[in-house]
Amino acid sequence: MDHFQLKNGILHAENVPLPRIAEEVGTPVYVYSRATLERHAQVFRDGIAPVGKSHIAFAIKSNPNRAVLRVLAKAGYGADVVSGGEISRAIAAGMKPDDVVFSGVGKTRAELEQALDTGIGQFNIELEEEGVVLAQIAAAKGMTAHATLRVNPDVDAGTHAKISTGKKENKFGVGIDQAPAIFDRLARLPGLKMHGVALHIGSQLFDLDPLAAAYARVGQLVADLRAMGHDVDRVDLGGGLGVPYKPSENPPSPADYGEMVARVTKGWDVTLMFEPGRVIVGNAGILLTRVIWVKPGVINPYVIVDAAMNDLARPAMYDAWHDFAAVQPNGQKMVANIAGPVCETGDTFAMGREIDAVASGDLAIFRTAGAYGATMASTYNSRPLVPEVMVDGDNYAVVADRIAAETILAAERIPDWLA
Ligand SMILES: *Cc1c(COP(=O)(O)O)cnc(C)c1O
Repeated sequence: MDHFQLKNGILHAENVPLPRIAEEVGTPVYVYSRATLERHAQVFRDGIAPVGKSHIAFAIKSNPNRAVLRVLAKAGYGADVVSGGEISRAIAAGMKPDDVVFSGVGKTRAELEQALDTGIGQFNIELEEEGVVLAQIAAAKGMTAHATLRVNPDVDAGTHAKISTGKKENKFGVGIDQAPAIFDRLARLPGLKMHGVALHIGSQLFDLDPLAAAYARVGQLVADLRAMGHDVDRVDLGGGLGVPYKPSENPPSPADYGEMVARVTKGWDVTLMFEPGRVIVGNAGILLTRVIWVKPGVINPYVIVDAAMNDLARPAMYDAWHDFAAVQPNGQKMVANIAGPVCETGDTFAMGREIDAVASGDLAIFRTAGAYGATMASTYNSRPLVPEVMVDGDNYAVVADRIAAETILAAERIPDWLA
């Protein structure tokens, strides 16, 4: 459930009519609902209640806006970060360093150092050499890095190939067969405290079975590590829960997920770490856009909107579906293609889709744009960087400015030798 609903025939975000935001901030613009964010944070927390000791680290990469992070920090969430920049964001948003988990296959030495100096709570180590270097840096500082070893359980998560991360040919984690030996060597290093293992098999998952299979493999690994004499007190189960992009879609709920986790991890006696991203923010955001033209086409008309692939990359990148709705629907429908102004055929949001009838100048939204939306935006075609707004009841605030093409131009230089 979200808070983007029709009231008196006009789409609102909570109590704010979207035309007001379009008028005052301009389009395209992302709009987030604080109430929806808070609700999703609570629903996920309630869902995993049956698992016992747990820690939730919001996957910042799905939506790194500082105001979004502040809402989640207030809800008691920590952060899963994948870069030095995301560490800075988590701290700037008010998350406690100890609640931050550092994931990622290419952490640089500078980032490891930054993370140690910040005092983050957990490093998810992706390869043995990273662990060795982390231990050296920590020991030289007289510190201890708290870590898990990320394993690749070799399961097919059944999602889009570009967001599948747990097959043996993927770049993430160490092979689960190599994990005991690597863990054993890392656990002996001064400067490093190995707490357990981590995994994350993919995103937008609609089937709990691959997750359950992966978790069961990790459960066996935990038993093997303990048999070798290691203490294991944490297992990081990653994120990945899917969200409905179409009304007909019915992904497992956080409650279904929590029930599965409780069943599979029964008796593990560890703190379970969770890294949800999309399921928290996906339906808490929309992209508000204005129709520039309705261009006659050979088969269907093209609805050309002022949002483009640089603002919302998912359709071009993953063939993703985002529901499209008129802000003031007149009850009529039309079959159309929806595209942005960018000079790429890939800048197409939908082909031959039945949508609310719209005309030049009308406002419309793409739904479920809160995750992997603004965070992937670029300025391709020298378009401004898309702004973000958060609504809170009757009020809203601009939580990220539109960065003008001129501002970006001003950061570029023509060297003297080209004068
Ligand atoms: C991307 C990512 C997540 C979040 O995935 P969602 O599908 O958004 O829940 C969690 N953990 C890691 C390591 C990731 O890379």
